[in-house]
Parts: sequence; C-alpha cells; structure tokens
Amino acid sequence: MALIELNKNGIYCAEADVYIDPWRSVDKALITHGHSDHSRPGHKSYLCTHASVPIIKHRLGSKINIAGIGYGESIMVNGVKFSFHPAGHIIGSAQIRAEGKGEVWVISGDYKTENDGISGCFEPVNCTHFITESTFGLPVYKWKKQSKVFDEINNWWSLNKSLGKTTIITAYSLGKAQRILHNIDSEIGKIFCHGAIAKMNNAIRNSGIPLKDTLLIEKESKPQDFAGHLIIAPPSALGSSWMKRFKNVSVGIASGWMMLRGARRRRGADRGFVLSDHCDWDGLNESIKATGAENIYPTHGYTQIYSRWLREQGYNAQPLETEFEGESLEKKEE
Ligand SMILES: [Zn+2]
Ligand SMILES: [Zn+2]
Repeated sequence: MALIELNKNGIYCAEADVYIDPWRSVDKALITHGHSDHSRPGHKSYLCTHASVPIIKHRLGSKINIAGIGYGESIMVNGVKFSFHPAGHIIGSAQIRAEGKGEVWVISGDYKTENDGISGCFEPVNCTHFITESTFGLPVYKWKKQSKVFDEINNWWSLNKSLGKTTIITAYSLGKAQRILHNIDSEIGKIFCHGAIAKMNNAIRNSGIPLKDTLLIEKESKPQDFAGHLIIAPPSALGSSWMKRFKNVSVGIASGWMMLRGARRRRGADRGFVLSDHCDWDGLNESIKATGAENIYPTHGYTQIYSRWLREQGYNAQPLETEFEGESLEKKEE
C-alpha cells in the first residue's frame, strides 16, 4: 500500500490515519487552505497554517478543534513526517509534504507561482509523488504579470472616476478580494467592501496580516456617495438586488476564467481582468518539473487532458478524481 491513497473520504495516509483536505467528516484533517472545497465542516480536528486558523474559524465556526503550524515546521504521526510549505495561492495556503515508508509525497492544494505580495511565495518541494491541482491545465491559459493587470484595473478605475462613475469589481471574498485590496492604487479614491468581504478581511487582520482600511456600505448611503470610488464585491453580487442600489456603474470581474471568450459578457460585466490565484499552463509545468517527482496526480480541473500531456512528457501521471471540481466561474461562494 502506498503512503498516500484516495478513499471515499478523500486523500488518506493510512499509516498515520490522517486525511488531507477530506470532503467527508474524519477524525484528523490536515488542511491546505481555507477555500470551501478544501476546508469542509465536520472534522474532529483540523491542522493548518497559523494564518489559516482565523480564516477557517470564521468560515466553519469558532468552536471547531483547530491548531496552527508554521511553514517549514513538521509533526510526526506514527512514524510519518508531515510539514507545511508555502503555496502562494491565498493567505495561509500551504502544500503538505508527507514522508514515510521510504516515500515522499507532496499534496499541492491550490497554488500559484507568481508572488502576489500577500499570499506568501510558492516554494517547490522535492518529492517522488506530487498531487498537483490542474484548474488551468491547458496551454490557452497564460497569465500576464500581475503588475500589468493592476495597471489595467487602476486605469479603468481612474477613467470611471473621470466620468463620475462608480467602479465595482467582483472577486472571491477569500483570496482575490484581499489581493486586489493589497495591490490596487488606493490614491485613486475611496475603497468600499461588500459586507461578506469586510468580515473576511477582519478575520484575516486577526491573523496578524495587515490589510488596508476600507469603508462599509451603509444602509442610508446614497448612490452619489460612491461616485468615483471603488467597491469590491463577491461574484454572487453580480445581477443581485444588492447591486441595484448603485447607479451609473462600471462593473468588472477579476478571474482567470476571463481568459475564456464570452465569459465576461455572459456575466453581464463591462470589463474582465484575467487575474487568477492558480498557476497558468507554464506555471504548472515548471512547478512539476521543479519538484523532481516522477509520479504526478493531477486533481481539480482538466485532470484527464493534463495527465495525458504529462505522460507524453515522460511522467508517470494518473488523474486523482476528487469529489470537488475546485474553483469554477460559476462556483457559488459560501
Ligand atoms: Zn483555493
Ligand atoms: Zn481548490
């Protein structure tokens, strides 16, 4: 039996009786990061990075049994050594390394190679078996540098301001929203956040990570109070009644899926910005190479196509079918 295998509850290490990002309730769960497809409710105990603790408590409730561990720190469980390493995906995100029975496995969780200034810097970890995400595992996905994308977003906001318009950008409330807040030019105007994002920001501030101050959208505020300013809202706000209180708006979406033709129009937005918290095609291929692993298990996204590509490159690659498809354009936020 291999050190790590898949069973009905998720990715499992039988030797240590520990799961990684399990999707059904288990006793011991190691969690790569706070997104809802990785960090599920109902486990008896959770272990994640220190920065993920307040995020996961915010999402799953303060009563859960959760402990934090530092990047590079390790724990031994029944002879298996587990350690957490930066994944660069969102605040607190980690890859999890497991060593035992002469095997070294790394479970990537979600990851990206470009340093966004707030999510830590992805570190390739040497291993023999690599479980990698493949959300954007097609050659069509090629990201521009983050600085270029933020130039586009800042220019768009400035233009809207000059026209007296309110700028609304949608972004996942965990990860993308804080990345935008951290990197946007706050000199242009005031920044307001949707309540769900404001609450998440507070949870993140509690983990000791400073975020820019933002303003709340008050019930009694008038549409003209937002003219020239920026509102960060979750994707679920698109087309909702919440949006109707704002007038004379320009709406943008920040997502890797904006690479797909028609995705912006279908969502009824004025602008699409290709900004992803996952690797692009080159990022995946370079990261896999950097691990030195021969055995690769793509999960999330284009698992079949990407596994075939890896086999053509000489890897021993097999998709790992999980119960969650990961982040998609239509994903509902929790
Ligand atoms: Zn994620
Ligand atoms: Zn995911």
